[in-house]
Amino acid sequence: MQLVGEKKVIVTGANRGIGRALALAVSQAGYHVIAHYFRGKEAAESLEKEIRQNGGSIELIQFDISDREDCREKLEKWQEENGAFWGIICNAGICADESFPGMSGENWDKVLRTNLDGFYNVLHPLIMPLCRKKKGRIITISSVSGITGNRGQVNYSAAKAGIIGATKALAVELASRSITVNCIAPGIIETEMSRDVPLDMVLPSIPMGRIGKPEEVAGLAVFLLSESASYITRQVISVNGGII
Ligand code: NDP
Repeated sequence: MQLVGEKKVIVTGANRGIGRALALAVSQAGYHVIAHYFRGKEAAESLEKEIRQNGGSIELIQFDISDREDCREKLEKWQEENGAFWGIICNAGICADESFPGMSGENWDKVLRTNLDGFYNVLHPLIMPLCRKKKGRIITISSVSGITGNRGQVNYSAAKAGIIGATKALAVELASRSITVNCIAPGIIETEMSRDVPLDMVLPSIPMGRIGKPEEVAGLAVFLLSESASYITRQVISVNGGII
């Protein structure tokens, strides 16, 4: 496989779900993939094996996106040894759904610290090397929940809406350096995270009448990483089967 100019792309939460599809698609497009995982080492190793078998180029990295020091330490070390990334896909995230009156402070904090603080924790150590290079791509993963608000997801909707605001502001800051910053907002995608969604209740609200596949999110990410997407920045692009 011909590497795209040896371009390196990190995908957080690459061991399963949407992240796994992202890593596979990014690798298939010819990039060197730095596949991040948190607890799922075995799944990450199976991804590594699959990508190598397909002739792709991959390495693994582990850290907790809710732990600022852990992110800084691992990401600075990686960059010292390898230089700046070309692309950063901030995909890792969690939900902890409860109706708001019953929502524990712990579930509020956990979801905000992982999803929203994770934006700062992962991107902050990577920004200056990217700025010095004056090129690159940042893609964040929000959710339809961050756009419309979802019942039982006040914490998750808050975090995902926060990611949209942060993405747009960062896009403005980095635009003059030819670094694009965009957000993908998936609808309901078939992964472990969505396994408890009551499909009979939600399908009528999806014009395409079905939930999405992780690969259908990954295709957009590969396009946003490409040279063809060099004038697209500060955008939130939904992949949701037509939900408004
Ligand atoms: P999954 O639950 O399948 O996977 C979550 C990923 O996030 C795993 O790789 C997990 O790593 C990683 N992760 C969780 N907590 C941490 C942490 N503290 N530090 C580092 N990594 C962590 O989720 P999906 O693939 O469904 O979701 C991926 C992204 O897409 C998320 O941001 C999610 O909010 C968003 N999304 C998903 C939708 C859906 O319907 N599935 C819809 C809209 C948005 P590990 O396994 O190693 O713990």
